[in-house]
Amino acid sequence: MRRAVFPGSFDPLTLGHTDIINRALNLFDEIIIAIGNNTSKNYMFSLEQRVKFIEQTYAGEKKIKVDTYEGLTIEYCKKVNSAFILRGLRNPADFEFEKAIAHTNRKLSKIETVFLLTSANTSYISSSIVRDVLRYKGDVTGLVPDAVHQHAQ
Ligand code: ADP
Repeated sequence: MRRAVFPGSFDPLTLGHTDIINRALNLFDEIIIAIGNNTSKNYMFSLEQRVKFIEQTYAGEKKIKVDTYEGLTIEYCKKVNSAFILRGLRNPADFEFEKAIAHTNRKLSKIETVFLLTSANTSYISSSIVRDVLRYKGDVTGLVPDAVHQHAQ
């Protein structure tokens, strides 16, 4: 079984994330969307709420699992028996950042990172910009899935 872990903060889940997830469904038998819980980070949405957004968006999709973890992503991958980490790339800054992490993860383990290039129409979407729009009560239609949109209204 080809299993991938898609790690991230998902604070909140965006249509950029779902674009990567939906396209990766053709590549993997199972995708675990793993929400990293970093106690030193200040999140807009609680861990429970971030889990809920993903569960609601993928209700009925048997290939998608949602989980949370703390610590190193590669240790989590070993725990759930996943040989692949899935990540999305939007721009050169993402690439530079992800490259160093992927090299390090390869140095520490045999786990491969698989990158999918963002779709042109979602490349500008980021959770941090969505959070800014939400803070000022802006309209996030077209940026986030329905579950997040409904919660924000
Ligand atoms: P992290 O804090 O680990 O970067 P994020 O939730 O911001 O967590 O992102 C998780 C993954 O989703 C990362 O690989 C990121 O590059 C990818 N991603 C986020 N937004 C987009 C987008 N619009 N298009 C493609 N990939 C994206």
